[in-house]
Amino acid sequence: MKINSFRPPDRILMGPGPSNVHPRVLQAMARPTIGHLDPEFIRMMDELKVLLRDTFLTKNEVTFPISGPGSLGMEAAVANMVEPGMKVAVCVNGAFGGRIREMVERHGGIPVVVDAPWGQPIDPAKLEDTLSKNKDVKVVAFVHAETSTGARSDIAALSKVAHKYGCLTIADTVTSFGGIPVKVDDWELDVVYSGSQKCLSCPPGLSPITFNDRAVDYVKKRKTKVSSWFMDVSLILSYWSGAKRTYHHTAPINALYGLHEALLLVQEEGLDKAWARHEKNAAMFRAGLEKIGLKSFVTGESSLPELAIVTVPDGVNEAAVRDHLLNKYNIEIGAGLGQLAGKIWRIGLMGYTSNEKNIKLCLKALKDAL
Ligand SMILES: *Cc1c(COP(=O)(O)O)cnc(C)c1O
Repeated sequence: MKINSFRPPDRILMGPGPSNVHPRVLQAMARPTIGHLDPEFIRMMDELKVLLRDTFLTKNEVTFPISGPGSLGMEAAVANMVEPGMKVAVCVNGAFGGRIREMVERHGGIPVVVDAPWGQPIDPAKLEDTLSKNKDVKVVAFVHAETSTGARSDIAALSKVAHKYGCLTIADTVTSFGGIPVKVDDWELDVVYSGSQKCLSCPPGLSPITFNDRAVDYVKKRKTKVSSWFMDVSLILSYWSGAKRTYHHTAPINALYGLHEALLLVQEEGLDKAWARHEKNAAMFRAGLEKIGLKSFVTGESSLPELAIVTVPDGVNEAAVRDHLLNKYNIEIGAGLGQLAGKIWRIGLMGYTSNEKNIKLCLKALKDAL
């Protein structure tokens, strides 16, 4: 077998992530690798922290990317905030909420589930009911944009309820960060993590995370050690902050160049304008779907502009439609997960992917496939 350099096809990525990467991000990642303690690299890291704070709309000192995908950001949040035997309220309205519950268990916590049917947001009144009956809950975790179902929960409202009962919050903003408003300080969110490959036009593999002072204080006062060495935030900070940086793990240097460039692109466009672009393109796409007779699975306030969830019409082979789009149009769209497998398509309009040209081509391809 003769093996050549791998040359991937040039796809239009309209699934639930990854989305297409901006060419400037790819160029940034191809620049020379330097040492992870090189003064120039540390200067770039400091800029990256500023860019992350500006995008998370926070003044939190502890704001940096975890070296790993969104799931590692999720697990880092859980590992730092959950101590063995502790009760944690976990909001579950899809696969990612379910993943948080699983992680809470694995780190020794006792999850108290606040659920909602798949496709629906979490009801803040239901969280309030749960917290009023479980006064020993210390942390509440929720997902902003549930990528498995396309539902957006009102995390500002969930945060308010959590604080009313003296709880700290963990918010998953993997699919919302950069696509719809995420206001860490205004909404008083305590620990917030995201991912690089959804609305930031960056490849997968990094997970921006931020801890406010309350959360940092909480971690400092824990009675037990954080259950993971790699994810212990106080150890990671020896590399990400302070006048003198020391080795924790070798940072994914070129990946960090990419995230730096991706966040710079967000700032150049303007965060408000990026949100408005996702919103406007979503409206155009939805109108187009309606025209070809396709229905949205999630509608109204809780639908996400960056992710359309389309109900597969009766008698249509959903996998054949996805194959047709991939093979004939180079477009990737996503299938349903778990209980929604075979019932929906998940079509992402995230980051660099969210533009008029892609929308028109996708509508044409869907019409053709049907
Ligand atoms: C994609 C996603 C994750 C996981 O991110 P990975 O980079 O795939 O590990 C977590 N939460 C939500 C809401 C997501 O959409």
